[in-house]
Amino acid sequence: MIEVEGLTKRYGRKLAVDHLSFQVRPGVVTGFLGPNGAGKSTTMRMMLDLDNPTSGSVRIDGRMYHELADPLKHIGALLEAKAMHGGRTAYNNLLCLAQSNRIPRQRVDQVLDMVGLTAVAKRKSKGFSLGMGQRLGIASALLGDPEILMFDEPVNGLDPEGIHWIRTLMKALAAEGRTVFVSSHLMSEMALTADHLIVIGQGRLLANTSMADFIQQNSRSFARVRTPQPEQLRDALRGAGLAATETDNGTFEVEGSETEALGELAATHRITLHELSAQRASLEEAFMQMTAEAVEYHAHAGPGEGAPPAGPVPGQVPAGQGAPGAGQAQGPARGQQPPAPQTWGQDWNQGQDQRSKGA
Ligand code: ADP
Ligand code: MG
Repeated sequence: MIEVEGLTKRYGRKLAVDHLSFQVRPGVVTGFLGPNGAGKSTTMRMMLDLDNPTSGSVRIDGRMYHELADPLKHIGALLEAKAMHGGRTAYNNLLCLAQSNRIPRQRVDQVLDMVGLTAVAKRKSKGFSLGMGQRLGIASALLGDPEILMFDEPVNGLDPEGIHWIRTLMKALAAEGRTVFVSSHLMSEMALTADHLIVIGQGRLLANTSMADFIQQNSRSFARVRTPQPEQLRDALRGAGLAATETDNGTFEVEGSETEALGELAATHRITLHELSAQRASLEEAFMQMTAEAVEYHAHAGPGEGAPPAGPVPGQVPAGQGAPGAGQAQGPARGQQPPAPQTWGQDWNQGQDQRSKGA
């Protein structure tokens, strides 16, 4: 178990981590989600005593990190851009770590086998691909057979096979009763891996919830109806007391009604339908709405480039591209300039508030 209490980190004027308090429990995968720059890596570094908190504390199984006699046997971690000695073989990298932490030599062979690097154990790690490097980093995290494991953005840059492997490993470790804490800036990734979710934005806690509850509360469901007779459908929906949002000419999003009932309604009014489908808003969207206020940078849309999104259309924001603060931050900090169209910032939220008042 990891207990974070009032954890705060200030770099000059920048408050990177802002009074965070939460617990990470054993037996489940806990996702640590937040846009780039939210303070995930800083929090994780403080958990490992690699950075000093400005205030607050972290306890690992009830103790401070520096009070742990053999830290690697309590907590193992893969941090971003794991530094390994490139001139050493994979085996020797792990052996050094084992010897300096009183871990038996045969454990090196075990973890190499667990991460699938046995065949390349005698190769120098500087020649490793990103995926192999991640596997070696994970091997070092597993070396002390710790009860607590922490992974900072472990799937970044991995191929699908590597991503699948890491997900399976994290779930297996949690199923063994270990505490597994994994960060990501992608909701789509967390949705597939995490049982519990801790969401932060600009260093602050935004949500601490089970994945199931997050989905339940944040994934809006609605029916999409498309017709060549929008006037008639609008009247029919109004007559039935149904709130609808017209997202495009002739396309409606209707909340609080099943597709069956809508099909009947259209038939009764002799309205032709070109589409009638049940939809669920993506979790990526829910995450982006939650963190919109807390994002440091917005993508910049050039003059005349595109228009604000018509509405919360599922699948409109591809995972990895529309990710909050994704990659190369370009825009100014929030508040210095109105958010440009095509971002998922305040404009979007406001638009949505208006639309949700009904068509
Ligand atoms: P995340 O891992 O969620 O992307 P980080 O923890 O890396 O976020 O960064 C949080 C904030 O703290 C960012 O604004 C980042 O620029 C800042 N920051 C992180 N490390 C340092 C540092 N060593 N010195 C100054 N600022 C830092
Ligand atoms: Mg980070």
